[in-house]
Amino acid sequence: MSSNKQSTTWLDSANRSAFRRKLLDWYAKHARELPWRNSGDPYAVWVSEVMLQQTTVATVRGYFERFMAAFPTVDKLAAADESRVLKLWEGLGYYRRARMLHAAAKQVARDYAGHLPDELSELQKLPGIGRYTAGAIVSIAFDKPAPILEANTIRLFARLLAVRDDATRVGVQRRLWQVAEELLPQRRVARFNQALMELGSLVCTPTAPNCPLCPVQPWCEGYQAGLLSELGPTTKRTTYSDLHEAAVVVKKKDRVLVRQCQADERWAGLWDFPRFEVTSEGPLFAEKELAAKVSELTGIACELGPLITTLRHGVTRYRIRLDCYRASYSSGRATGARWLSLAELSQLPLSVTGRKLANLL
Ligand code: SF4
Repeated sequence: MSSNKQSTTWLDSANRSAFRRKLLDWYAKHARELPWRNSGDPYAVWVSEVMLQQTTVATVRGYFERFMAAFPTVDKLAAADESRVLKLWEGLGYYRRARMLHAAAKQVARDYAGHLPDELSELQKLPGIGRYTAGAIVSIAFDKPAPILEANTIRLFARLLAVRDDATRVGVQRRLWQVAEELLPQRRVARFNQALMELGSLVCTPTAPNCPLCPVQPWCEGYQAGLLSELGPTTKRTTYSDLHEAAVVVKKKDRVLVRQCQADERWAGLWDFPRFEVTSEGPLFAEKELAAKVSELTGIACELGPLITTLRHGVTRYRIRLDCYRASYSSGRATGARWLSLAELSQLPLSVTGRKLANLL
């Protein structure tokens, strides 16, 4: 806890107690059954928190169960091949999270005998663990006082405090962390923090907060002042850019050419068909460009065939149009790429579009 914090002057001690009581009563009745809840296992809390970043609970459930079945302990995860970790993450997106989790597991296995530390400062030394994840592990797994602030609680606190400013600004975040810290009870911290997140997720939702049924409505300045529609944004607005890319499925008998994305590429560690940005205009120029880029990436000369399909998808701030072509092998030896059967492909972690394309084949 910081020692130089200023008072937020938001709630006095009696109101803080009443707020906590109401929130915990609500949570006792409405908490969802989630596979990582009440496990008491710091590793399970950690994995779930990493998976839940930028991903919904509904999507995470299945991934979490498969991941924990494959790697039930930190040591098992630390000893796993990265491609197996990525395979179990396939489709969940933001693969950097998986690589960081894996790297941190190795560090925990080596430096802490496979047991996650219960101190914020120690946890934040691990790859991929920032202030929020460390706070979640310390409070939820070890039941020790540590504040948390993530998308749901940022929105909740911003409304409770009627924050008119952009809640992603540093100064506002500092104040919200302070409020989160001051509200913490001395006991049952795990339940309290989970209750805050649950309330943000189920009641104080982004577009339609259910204020009449909200247990903390008496303390909500945004609601009481009728200001909800005037409050500032609580998440960063993304500006999208369009990208035109192509993927080429080069066939040699019953095998296809795939390559593992390198550390500086978007899907580092995952496998994909040769894929790149298209810069030329017009079909004839594009054809030349694609064959030249396949050769540059893999050492294979190929003859471009017809378009198989066009996939459209979004990655971070990009809206991508991906034209997928067939091609046949002409000559050359693959470098940094492999010829694999479709059955072998099913064992590898592929990018989402790579998997869609493989399924089409
Ligand atoms: Fe959110 Fe409405 Fe509850 Fe305020 S009263 S915290 S806006 S649900």
